[in-house]
Amino acid sequence: MIPSPLHTGRLVLTPEDPYLAPEDPGDLIQQLREIGFAGERLGQGSTSYMVGDQFMKLVTFMGCSPAIQSAPSDSDEPFCHLVQSGPHPLPIFLSGRNTTAPRCEACRKRVPQWQGIMGDWAQDPADFAATCPHCGHAQNPANYDWRQSAGCGRYMLCVENIFPQEAVPSTRLLNELQWITGNRPWHYFYIQE
Ligand SMILES: [Zn+2]
Repeated sequence: MIPSPLHTGRLVLTPEDPYLAPEDPGDLIQQLREIGFAGERLGQGSTSYMVGDQFMKLVTFMGCSPAIQSAPSDSDEPFCHLVQSGPHPLPIFLSGRNTTAPRCEACRKRVPQWQGIMGDWAQDPADFAATCPHCGHAQNPANYDWRQSAGCGRYMLCVENIFPQEAVPSTRLLNELQWITGNRPWHYFYIQE
């Protein structure tokens, strides 16, 4: 099955703590180059990088024969590469067509009004509490459980042109990211445009 090129997406890696960002993103990229996850920078001053020569070992692709294009082509087709977002002073929220309503951490019911809530949150992401419409529990929506369909963070490493659930970061990659950032765990989600 060939996915439509119109529906591009990305795999997003970010610290589990949405308020945490690496102290030195340049150092993080350098370490990711050393393990072969990241490759050459895509143009001077760019925040984008080619994938490295160990990329296919650090990310597991579902399906029998993934046709991953990892270099720009003459025909301008989408290709798999890395893009840094941040560090932002405060967390940003990423969502897509695939985003589903998050669950309240107390009653586990879905919060269908999430779009309005996240709009309000973006005005004051440092110190915002949303009240659950079901049980009244107040929580910062930066910590909602989106089940890998959205997320918040001050620093995000995006693997471009990956479809939701098409590729899963290996334990080794997540461990490396954790190690690089002072043993703070990372997680991941998918955005489909
Ligand atoms: Zn609730």
